Amino acid sequence: MRVLVVGAGYAGATAAVRLAGRSAGRVEVTLVNPRAGFVNRLRLHQVAVGRPIAAPSLRSMVGTGVTLVEGQVVALDPDAGRATVAGPDGMNEVAFDRVVLATGSTTDVTVPGAEHVHAVGDLESARRLRPALATAPTGADIAVVGGGFTGLETVAELAEARPDARVRLVAAGEVGGWFTPRGRDHVQRTLGQLGVEAVGDTRVRAVEPGRLLLDGGGEVPSALTVWCGGFAAPPLAREAGIAVDDRGAVRTDATMRSVSHPSVMAVGDAGHAPGPGGERYSMSCQYAFPSAAHAADLLRAEVLGLGPGGALDLGFTARCVSLGRGHGVLQPTDKADVAQGRAVIGRGAVAAKWVQVRGVVAAVGLERRLPGAARWPHAARSRDAAVTGPAT
Ligand SMILES: Cc1cc2nc3c(=O)[nH]c(=O)nc-3n(C[C@H](O)[C@H](O)[C@H](O)COP(=O)(O)OP(=O)(O)OC[C@H]3O[C@@H](n4cnc5c(N)ncnc54)[C@H](O)[C@@H]3O)c2cc1C
Repeated sequence: MRVLVVGAGYAGATAAVRLAGRSAGRVEVTLVNPRAGFVNRLRLHQVAVGRPIAAPSLRSMVGTGVTLVEGQVVALDPDAGRATVAGPDGMNEVAFDRVVLATGSTTDVTVPGAEHVHAVGDLESARRLRPALATAPTGADIAVVGGGFTGLETVAELAEARPDARVRLVAAGEVGGWFTPRGRDHVQRTLGQLGVEAVGDTRVRAVEPGRLLLDGGGEVPSALTVWCGGFAAPPLAREAGIAVDDRGAVRTDATMRSVSHPSVMAVGDAGHAPGPGGERYSMSCQYAFPSAAHAADLLRAEVLGLGPGGALDLGFTARCVSLGRGHGVLQPTDKADVAQGRAVIGRGAVAAKWVQVRGVVAAVGLERRLPGAARWPHAARSRDAAVTGPAT
């Protein structure tokens, strides 16, 4: 079986390595990615403030069991089993029996004025933000839009890097409102100490040069706006005629298979699988790893004749948010990703974030050395999510 994996972020690298390592040589795995280095998206706000991040070579991460192709899949024909790849040596065709879409997501600006905003959703955007931030004059108005995890981490990083600027966080809800009270208080207190002005419970309806226009008529001055208000999948799947949701993510069933094209699987941010309550899982590494590993196990089961395999069984346990270099919150959650219990703040949270960030690369390496090693917390403790089958 020829399996093409498109995109080598957390999800694509995991799927490729696990499948190649566990399929007893019965699967040819080809992994296509636009660059030879791994981009740790968790740290792109650091890139924006000029703090370099590690970019390990994908070749060393995935090993020799995977054919790595540098390039961008620019067209996909799922019925014919063909992908067109634009690479350094021009256009090439790659044939496949199954394709795993792991193309991730990028910043999605849903209001007028997108041309005026910066972003941290992809490496190129984060790199463009760096000189704009560095050259903003003293006292400049800087606004981060979006009070989710990316917005919180980004605004803290920016404020820490530019204490001389007027930095604001514009959020649709209460700033830090997702956390339990101890975590929320720490978020608000830390942002306050970093000089961030919180503008909560309001929505931006348009971005203009020098200002944000708010729902209800107000405005926020902003010479430099960073949009963290939402993410969407790249257009590749939609353009290929594959069923997608309103954010371009492939609609799949709980086995990561496209509802419109059975030869297509989608994992990580690029896939929209129904969670236990019917809603999609959040775009996160907590979903990227298990969805990718599960897809690999199902493909392995198919090729080894182990049966169709079952639904992904994933339960969340915690979320970890950094607030600049010296603060953070580790918030326990229930299995459905709802904050609960006592949040860890201070050094414990900073250490947990450190482990999480490094764990992304380490987990792919572990999977390469010990295929099948990656496990994840289950929604139902009694069930084993991975389709294990006989050892190979
Ligand atoms: C600043 C920031 C901070 C974040 N912090 C957290 C956090 O603390 N915790 C958390 O859980 N999540 C966090 N996230 C979200 C997390 O990074 C994503 O959920 C995760 O990266 C998804 O992994 P993925 O493999 O699906 O996609 P990605 O990591 O986006 O990887 C997709 C890959 O596919 C490649 N690709 C795209 N299109 C094509 C194509 N046509 N052909 C070939 N290759 C292609 C891309 O170049 C990329 O290499 C953060 C995101 C950002 C931007």
